Amino acid sequence: MTTTAPATAPAQGTGKIEDAGHVDVLIVGAGVSGIGAAHHLRDQFPGRTFVILDAQDNRGGTWWTHRYPGVRSDSDLFTYGYRFKPWRGPSIAAGGEILAYLDEVIDEDGLGQYIRYQHRVTTASWSTEDRQWTVDATRADTGQQLRFTTSFLWMCQGYYNHAKPYQPRWEGLDRFQGLVVHPQRWPEDLDLAGKRVVVIGSGATAATLIPAIAGKAKHVTMLQRSPSYFFAPPMTHELAVTLRALDIPEEWTYEILRRQYIQQTDWLARTARDAPDELHAFLIESVRPLLPEGFDVEKHLTPRYRPWQQRIAIVPDGDLFAALREGTASIVTDTIETFTEHGIKVTSGAEIPADVVVTATGFNMSVLGDVAFTVDGVPVDFSERVTWRGIMITGVPNMAYVFGYFRHSWTLRVDLVSDVVGRLLSHMQDTGATMVVPTLRPQDDDMELRPWSDPENFNAGYVMRSQHILFKQGDREPWTHLLEHEEEREILPVADLDDGTLVYR
Ligand SMILES: Cc1cc2nc3c(=O)[nH]c(=O)nc-3n(C[C@H](O)[C@H](O)[C@H](O)COP(=O)(O)OP(=O)(O)OC[C@H]3O[C@@H](n4cnc5c(N)ncnc54)[C@H](O)[C@@H]3O)c2cc1C
Repeated sequence: MTTTAPATAPAQGTGKIEDAGHVDVLIVGAGVSGIGAAHHLRDQFPGRTFVILDAQDNRGGTWWTHRYPGVRSDSDLFTYGYRFKPWRGPSIAAGGEILAYLDEVIDEDGLGQYIRYQHRVTTASWSTEDRQWTVDATRADTGQQLRFTTSFLWMCQGYYNHAKPYQPRWEGLDRFQGLVVHPQRWPEDLDLAGKRVVVIGSGATAATLIPAIAGKAKHVTMLQRSPSYFFAPPMTHELAVTLRALDIPEEWTYEILRRQYIQQTDWLARTARDAPDELHAFLIESVRPLLPEGFDVEKHLTPRYRPWQQRIAIVPDGDLFAALREGTASIVTDTIETFTEHGIKVTSGAEIPADVVVTATGFNMSVLGDVAFTVDGVPVDFSERVTWRGIMITGVPNMAYVFGYFRHSWTLRVDLVSDVVGRLLSHMQDTGATMVVPTLRPQDDDMELRPWSDPENFNAGYVMRSQHILFKQGDREPWTHLLEHEEEREILPVADLDDGTLVYR
């Protein structure tokens, strides 16, 4: 399992554990999932007490961690926005705009008073006798140890380690005399003027960072081992312009654009599955006209995998390709042989000079925030457990987690999962149950267990590196984690909470 190293070592505490009290629901994470979960909880159960704990010193999760130049969404904000709060900006938004949107939700719902920053949750221990979790947290600023108890734990911790980005080991890195920067830790005062920058990576991060720094740096080289798919939609949807000119309620515009984007992504996801070769050709051909003359599309922009086995990187208004045309950026497709004092030597023999190297090489996945879980004193090894609809886990009582979509916007699932959790809490209230635990039925005894993500379906590097620590899926509902919103938006709202797979006491 990956370990969570705090960005800065916590201050030394006194070793005493302070009682932080009891809440009905404890939410871990103040990113889009945690804030969305808190909204739905308050909306449906205004009388319940809750707290949100986050290890970082501010809200936003991903959008607080990633503040490199040009950081932006790579899905549209009409579906990345919550169901309950219209998005008023462009389709693709800058990280700062997403933070401002989250701030509005926090303000409108009065959530600020419930969020405790710099609280890293380290352990969660369930007691069946007491019907509650004991959750220990360490404050990053003071080192103080705090102990909460809660009746229901809602894990909104995201999927990767915010403190420790993934960085492969490269030969010769220690002799490189320039600066190495990871996008997860972008130095605020980094001035790239006159610098030769090499960005290692080919995914969304590289695609957003490069246009933002090209033209400021002396030159930017994107160094990729293998190509990714790109799609270059307009930054602002034509339909948004049309609808906004009609002076109709914002909610209507939002709903229409949401439906439009959902349908478009359904089509893309379906075509990726049913007609991958056609989608492959469509994606390649759609960017070809945006490239400089003589550009080697086959070498640099023709992936070896099927579309959407990994995320498709969005390049709004084709800005990355504009940088290629203008000559302020270029792409090298090759493998790193070694770092040298002044750059990177690639396998073909060329040396790419660099003053700054940006390692846009992705994440270390973390399972449920790297919290050590125990149930009645027995440590939980998640790799031996099975997911219940991608929301709960076998043998782990009174705990739900949020994991969004890879293809559709993450947040669409935040709303759907929150509805299921709301129905579950209501059901428990109505029946007087104080405990719910997903449990395999006798007929599931011989069920084939499958990896959390089927590599044929989705095989991004960070998922593949972590499959061995992730929980499993079964071969039948409800023991599956469906990746498609098209299926789930039908299934989850009517999912039977009394089919025998959830055991109540
Ligand atoms: C640059 C970038 C762009 C992206 N763009 C898109 C996009 O356009 N569309 C899309 O759908 N997805 C996108 N994603 C994926 C993105 O991560 C999700 O959309 C979403 O932000 C995840 O939100 P979250 O709240 O679930 O998790 P996170 O944003 O990861 O937030 C989780 C929070 O939980 C906290 N936490 C974790 N463990 C603990 C612990 N043990 N104790 C206390 N706190 C803890 C973390 O500190 C963090 O603040 C993008 C990702 C990146 C990196």
